[in-house]
Amino acid sequence: MKTSIIGFPRVGELRELKFATEKYFRKEITAEELEAKGKELRNKHWQLLVDQGIDFIPSGDFSFFDTTLDAAVLLNIVPEKYQALQLSPLETYFALARGYQGEAGDVTALAMKKWFNTNYHYMVPEIDDETELKLVGDTLFTNFNEAKAAGVITRPTIIGPFTLLKLATYHGSKQANDFYDAAIEAYAQIFDRLAELGCEWLQIDEPALVLDLSPAEVQQFKDLYQNLLAKKGNLNILVQTYFGDVRDAYQELVALPFDGIGLDFVEGRKTLDLLEEYGFPKDKTLFAGLVNGKNIWKNNYQQTLTLIEELQKFGDVVLSTSCSLLHVPFTLANESLLTKEVTNHFSFAVEKLAELNDLKKIVADKETNRDLLNANLTLFAQDRFSKNGQVAQRVESLTEKDFIRLPTLGERASIQKNKLKLPILPTTTIGSFPQTKDVKQNRAKFKKDEITETEYTAFNQEKIAECVAFQEEIGLDVLVHGEFERNDMVEYFGESLDGYLFTEKAWVQSYGTRCVKPPIIWGDISRSKPITVAYSKYAQTLTDKPMKGMLTGPVTILNWSFPREDISLRESTLQLALAIQEEVLDLEANGIKIIQIDEAALREKLPLRQTDWHTEYLDWAIPAFRLVHSKVQSTTQIHTHMCYSEFADIIQDIDNMDADVISFEASRSNLDILDALKKIDFQTQVGPGVYDIHSPRVPSVDELEVTIHNILNKLPIEKVWINPDCGLKTRGVLETEASLKNLVLAAKKVRGGV
Ligand code: GLN
Ligand code: ZN
Repeated sequence: MKTSIIGFPRVGELRELKFATEKYFRKEITAEELEAKGKELRNKHWQLLVDQGIDFIPSGDFSFFDTTLDAAVLLNIVPEKYQALQLSPLETYFALARGYQGEAGDVTALAMKKWFNTNYHYMVPEIDDETELKLVGDTLFTNFNEAKAAGVITRPTIIGPFTLLKLATYHGSKQANDFYDAAIEAYAQIFDRLAELGCEWLQIDEPALVLDLSPAEVQQFKDLYQNLLAKKGNLNILVQTYFGDVRDAYQELVALPFDGIGLDFVEGRKTLDLLEEYGFPKDKTLFAGLVNGKNIWKNNYQQTLTLIEELQKFGDVVLSTSCSLLHVPFTLANESLLTKEVTNHFSFAVEKLAELNDLKKIVADKETNRDLLNANLTLFAQDRFSKNGQVAQRVESLTEKDFIRLPTLGERASIQKNKLKLPILPTTTIGSFPQTKDVKQNRAKFKKDEITETEYTAFNQEKIAECVAFQEEIGLDVLVHGEFERNDMVEYFGESLDGYLFTEKAWVQSYGTRCVKPPIIWGDISRSKPITVAYSKYAQTLTDKPMKGMLTGPVTILNWSFPREDISLRESTLQLALAIQEEVLDLEANGIKIIQIDEAALREKLPLRQTDWHTEYLDWAIPAFRLVHSKVQSTTQIHTHMCYSEFADIIQDIDNMDADVISFEASRSNLDILDALKKIDFQTQVGPGVYDIHSPRVPSVDELEVTIHNILNKLPIEKVWINPDCGLKTRGVLETEASLKNLVLAAKKVRGGV
């Protein structure tokens, strides 16, 4: 049995590619130096794969920004405005990725979108009627040659035409199928050139096959590949899928003349059923995604071996990962703070290669490799390190009524109105204020033990006092403390929750040069101590206006962590919900009358198939949020906040979260969300962000007034709040102060006019 991987984390062991690219952006190194760094990393990674005994080694998975963008550029999908800049190929590439402002012109970047159900983001190819899809680039070929020169025959990988054209946006009258013929021609040329270079296999990624597909789309896929595969010559073609099963297209897929088919047995719940029901052709190789490419836990060898045996009945099996290893950190080797007992359970990208190799060896010769299997069996026989019977018990004993807040939303609204005495169109912010240099320095110094806790806290209190004074001065109605103590909305809470672990170097690429370091849920979650109470309470002493307590919700904490695999996501989320519930009740007991529970990432783990949305996710995610606030008094007002996503299609579920008030990131989507709210008669009071905090631009009073009137055209005035569309932490002080002043003035003017 051979081994294969779909892709490798190109950013490098210590994020070398990120740092080199950012230096290039700052003009500290030349294009040649950046190219040289890329070459060095590619070669290092290929060698690593060779050393780990991987049989199918990819090339073309390296990228200076994003592989979807690479494919677009290779195929000449570059809108005229970027070509008109007449920059070098590398500069044009980065203009597409990041926009360009300079002597040659001024263009914005392509749109960026979440890559399926991951936290990776791809650049959305932009196609118009002038687009001439044809093979123009050569990185795929030069990378193949580069590896060949180093003695490695790689399997180039490229995103397939079906997925590429499905993910693209169309600005003219032409649609995806208008480009199929050109795509067939271009991919056929790729086949020819690779074959000439001595390439044996090409991997074509078609993850779009795991989405809900209509019969018409399946037919399009079939026609497309029937024509394309007729031109493959002697080249072997692997069609690679991931992030789920291909239930809508399985029969058509296996009937096409591919040489290899890559299926995901980890997230693809129905993959095995599909094989059993419809069989798998003997003349094709099954690339079985059995080692999880998305999570960081060791593989259970016994389970995998059993499955391999079952799959081998269908014919030739190559052992593979479930998706590209891009989605996990590079290596455990640089984690010095975690104990061996803990890291023994982990497997990052490099360690996953070793797992593939172990499994290959065991399959080849079980007796000689018994030690490998036994070590793994011992590991899985052990109980996980930090179980907490009490927590499990609390989750177990939850009943229906724990998820229901009484009295009802409508009744609460009038109780809270009398209690809080807020004006109509109350103004507020989303929580964070600018994280200036001194704020970050204060945290860094404290972390490095350079200042005492007293000094650290005193500084934060001073900042809070300034922040509160400013909000009072400009006349905001509901104040915040500013979140100066927080580095990140998940890590900050994780640090005070038992059951969480933090890594030092376990970065994962989120987009371009941006990487994130998700914490790891290691055990049952409980709150070890109050987290936010002291600062919120202090902030409330400074003002007579209501001070909003500020928390991150359980679904977002879960979605931005590496979750456990031994219990369900639902169970971990409920544990988190109970921990945050304690914090909510503590805030309430300490005089905080309004509490905001952010669910910025609510949509992140929404299943790819709409039919699974409720049963697999929303049916527990929404109740988990309700659990957090179900026990507060009717007078306590619960807010939530959401961003980074589209909401229209899950708007009813958002209403079912039963918060009293919700603020949305809405200004960039032109307030489209208002129609969706109106349509379902959204019950929750709502603050659709009135300006975009992702830009330093200061909105004028006039334009804010117009925006507010637009909102009031769609929503009843007694339900509307006025706020920016997200937290202000990434903004500068001057623009923030100016924008907020204008926001309050605009709200006052509109109030005066009604
Ligand atoms: N309360 C957080 C803040 O203001 C919310 C952040 C977010 O939505 N991403 O920073
Ligand atoms: Zn936000």
